[in-house]
Amino acid sequence: PGRAAPSGIAADTHCPYCALQCGMSLTPVQDRGPDGGASPRVVVAPREFPTNKGGLCQKGWTSASLLTAHDRLTVPLVRDRTVDAAGAVTRGGLRPATWDEALGRVARGLTEIQAASGRDAVAVFGGGGLTNEKAYALGKLARTVLRTANIDYNGRFCMASAAAGANRAFGADRGLPFPLADLAGADAVLLLGSNLAETMPPSVQHLAGVRSRGGLVVVDPRRSATAALTGAGAPGGAADAPPQGVHLQPVPGTDLVVLLALLHVVWAEGLADEEYLAARVSGVDDVRRAVAAWWPERAETVCGIAADELRRVARLLAAASPVRGGRGAYVLTGRGVEQSTQGTATVTAAIDLALALGLPGRTGSGYGAITGQGNGQGGREHGQKADQLPGYRKIDDPAARAHVAAVWGVDPASLPGPGKPAVELLRSLGTPGGPRALLVHGSNVLVSAPDATRVAERLDALDLLVVCDLVPSETALRADVVLPVTQWAEEEGTMTSLEGRVIRRRQAVTPPTGVRSELWVFAELARRLGSTVPFPLDPAEVFDELARASAGGVADYSGLSHARLDADEAAGGPGLFWPVPAVPARLSEPDRAVDRGASDNPAGRGTHPGTPRLFLDRFHTPDGRARMVAVDHVGPSDDVRPDAPVYLVTGRVLQHYQSGAQTRRVAELDRIVPGPFVEMHPILGFRLGIQDGDPVRLTSSRGEVRAPARWSDKIRPDTVFMPFHWSGAGSVNRITTDATDPISGMPEFKVCAVAVAPDPAG
Ligand code: SF4
Repeated sequence: PGRAAPSGIAADTHCPYCALQCGMSLTPVQDRGPDGGASPRVVVAPREFPTNKGGLCQKGWTSASLLTAHDRLTVPLVRDRTVDAAGAVTRGGLRPATWDEALGRVARGLTEIQAASGRDAVAVFGGGGLTNEKAYALGKLARTVLRTANIDYNGRFCMASAAAGANRAFGADRGLPFPLADLAGADAVLLLGSNLAETMPPSVQHLAGVRSRGGLVVVDPRRSATAALTGAGAPGGAADAPPQGVHLQPVPGTDLVVLLALLHVVWAEGLADEEYLAARVSGVDDVRRAVAAWWPERAETVCGIAADELRRVARLLAAASPVRGGRGAYVLTGRGVEQSTQGTATVTAAIDLALALGLPGRTGSGYGAITGQGNGQGGREHGQKADQLPGYRKIDDPAARAHVAAVWGVDPASLPGPGKPAVELLRSLGTPGGPRALLVHGSNVLVSAPDATRVAERLDALDLLVVCDLVPSETALRADVVLPVTQWAEEEGTMTSLEGRVIRRRQAVTPPTGVRSELWVFAELARRLGSTVPFPLDPAEVFDELARASAGGVADYSGLSHARLDADEAAGGPGLFWPVPAVPARLSEPDRAVDRGASDNPAGRGTHPGTPRLFLDRFHTPDGRARMVAVDHVGPSDDVRPDAPVYLVTGRVLQHYQSGAQTRRVAELDRIVPGPFVEMHPILGFRLGIQDGDPVRLTSSRGEVRAPARWSDKIRPDTVFMPFHWSGAGSVNRITTDATDPISGMPEFKVCAVAVAPDPAG
């Protein structure tokens, strides 16, 4: 298949990877690509933007390589199935097909499956990397054309517990309800389970101020690159290190106990902001009573952190709080504490702590969650989540259904109800009464889902698996139909950063011949399935519809348009924070326009300047008060025991992103970290007879994985760490547990029990 002639225009856009959405400029280069053809190539340059302040990480610098990936999909692929007289199905290999054949196969398959087994027999799986426009249109396709309840997305793996905790406490979930740059002015930041220095390196610039004041507290079972920013492990020991902060290294799965103990100390030592609690928070007494049981010496026996260290951190945070005359403090959570069967409870305890200190809803202080995926924030606002409609509305809310149905021109009664959360959905594929077809967009579940071997079995049990992707990911290679689609620098759209800042993604190059936009795929599928619901092809038009659908919701984009965002950026404004309702802001609200100056709205529909800081006047609950909720520690679902005595924690490395489907194809990144490894403390290595570099086998009750050992004194001797970016024998999600948080449905990626042994086959 041929590629388009190199063409394009210089464009100011954002990195295709994580939620920091670093600003970058792309300049097309008119030369011949390495494949000898006329591949469109671009040169990446960092651009000043508030989250990255002109910085990029290695992934961003090399992101142009994605456009010239050697195995870029440029033609649809289909797999033929034959059924013999006995009914046995044989699946052939994937072969090239025309778009007409491929989409005909999809439409015919979906029609037959729904006719035989009902609407919910078709399921949809979206992704947190899709633009706002694509996430919105995918949800609309599921609800109005397929009319299936079974839609969810991979954000369930990364943001669901933070979202559940924030929604319960504040009535709204915007990962950071304040600009990231606000961290610079704080006296203390408590960072739980987030390795910012590797996952989004430019963000650590915002921690320079707090480090200089000795107020960075990192909670992580590993002395990660971020934990090292506290000065822990510095050459010469703590005595020689500048006073940058504290690293707490708890037993995996006990972060909640750390938080309960901090809360205990706050109240036991009279450090709570009682005036704030009385004025703005409900549920206080229940929490005060519950944490009385977690005195530091008791907590120490569970989490392994010395009682005096817990007291020191509680006092450090309290001293930074505004009520004690500090500059401010933040409590931030990441996947390390959220990807747990008690993830929502842990987020809740983090919020309870922030509330006890009087932080949320105050400029210069607060609670936030560090969103991971590029559009992990927007991805959960526009209707690809099982229980939600656009505008971050609940799908079982009659008023929300009526509003969105009117925008879509359908009967509210025709909209399905809530579907199954992602893990439950994947488990149900191909089971009796479960979905028989699955459409996958922007996700590589065969590598990224927990207990991935079972996921592979479930995918193989389907009658029809359809995958839209840029490259032949592991999941695409298992599909019946693969549809090649455009990627970041080939398309227009919007993303929403980890701060809730709505920004423009811009096209710099023409996509390869044969590739189509997912918006086109949705429109074409709707037409072939006989729907009269319109699916616009122009991303600006889709955004306008999304904005109307979001009007009045928590995530209100109704005052925004592509034209307004473009005009705002041309005038020096780096995006607008939602909510941006179409009606003007009340002038008395003090949080308006603090970050970027009021917009005079030279184009587009709205005049509202956006909302950099939420909750300054009131929380989004019916009575305007935040809700504290009492929680308690239960422990991991798969705890250590004699036959699996070592904790396994998983995570990312700097050079790779999520399932690695993209970054493994970037030669410069692959060369630095070409495969998985098992990080273990030398003490554990000695005990098990495993030297640095030796082949290792990890076994859990789900299966086993193999990878070389990497000795490190940065990890606890009772714990091993594996990154999750690879498939095959070293694909760690083959052995992670698919147990989920009972409230959020989020899987427990971050801790399970394994046996560790030398690998005789290595
Ligand atoms: Fe920035 Fe994240 Fe891209 Fe790195 S991966 S350049 S931190 S947006």
